[in-house]
Amino acid sequence: MAKRQKHKNTAPKVVEGVQQPNSINEAAIRRFKQKRRLPSVEELVEKILAGHRVTLSRALTLIESTRNDHRELAEQVIEKCLPAAGNSIRIGITGSPGVGKSTFIEAFGLMLTRLGHKVAVLAVDPSSQVTRGSILGDKTRMANLAVDENAFIRPSPAGDSLGGVARKTREGILLCEAAGFDVVIVETVGVGQSETAVHSMVDFFLLLLLPGAGDELQGIKRGIVEMADLIAINKADGDNVLRAKQSKRAYRNALHLFPPKGNGWNPLVASCSAIEGTGMEDIWQSTQNYRKQLKESGFWENRRREQAIYWLHQSIRNTLGERFYGHPSVQQKLPDMEKAVKQGELSSFKAAKELLDLFF
Ligand code: GDP
Repeated sequence: MAKRQKHKNTAPKVVEGVQQPNSINEAAIRRFKQKRRLPSVEELVEKILAGHRVTLSRALTLIESTRNDHRELAEQVIEKCLPAAGNSIRIGITGSPGVGKSTFIEAFGLMLTRLGHKVAVLAVDPSSQVTRGSILGDKTRMANLAVDENAFIRPSPAGDSLGGVARKTREGILLCEAAGFDVVIVETVGVGQSETAVHSMVDFFLLLLLPGAGDELQGIKRGIVEMADLIAINKADGDNVLRAKQSKRAYRNALHLFPPKGNGWNPLVASCSAIEGTGMEDIWQSTQNYRKQLKESGFWENRRREQAIYWLHQSIRNTLGERFYGHPSVQQKLPDMEKAVKQGELSSFKAAKELLDLFF
């Protein structure tokens, strides 16, 4: 009380010569507090199921948050949305930087919304730790799709580890589906490990390549070509048309050399021009043929179930890792242990055991 008295005549009320408001705007403060209040699980779920995009964005922010109360809320929302999730085709898109991924996604997405689909675009870019998707999240790259009311674009979640970023995106897919998006595109940078993570969360994996150059030249690892369900040679326009044709033939021949996929699908090679919008319908048709074939053979559900098991284990690993490294005693002791291991005073195994004992 005394403190209050002391500050009674301080700013903002007593700046001399400046006209003061009669009172603080209570209604505005209430509105502000309401905005900051965490919505309830029911409120979030109801609005997500109704396709409310602002709420979907908000829920994704909760998924990405490091605050425990946010995470808990997000988990409950995901749980409640699960029965309404799963009804989309999840398409992973990869390719080296510059191959035309965002141009492709924009052209492909706009074609799909014209056909009456609802398209969500998510991204996995572990390099975007602080800037929240400097590479993939930049909405200006898909300016027309970003303003399409049947599309939803979300930059890559930030995170220290690929595992964490991937988990958030995987959960994001489920919420987008619950919100009624029937095509979910997951973009990846095409460098490093993110392709494998994306492959483990999508139904169909599309690799974009450039005409002419071999995969090594394009920085594509062999394993990635093997993961593809469809290879699209992009930029098949202008002077590139002939080269694109040759590349198409070369990749068709190369794919014959790979062992057949266990699900019975023979990977396809197509060409397209994202800039001219050509080849988009054929690629979409291929995804539809794929879905039909795999649903009939049972491999569609099989794969989704296997992916769910994979994510169960990933989730356990992630949570354990996060809790372990976030534990105060571990954080305190870790630098000394690292130093001791570096100087050869302690073996890695013994250090690990001591830290784990501290944790458990
Ligand atoms: P990303 O880094 O893979 O997302 O590639 P972008 O979509 O940003 O495209 C990189 C560059 O290639 C841009 O200058 C695009 O305009 C250009 N580009 C993309 N698709 C095509 C295409 O089909 N044909 C041609 N000629 N250029 C394209």
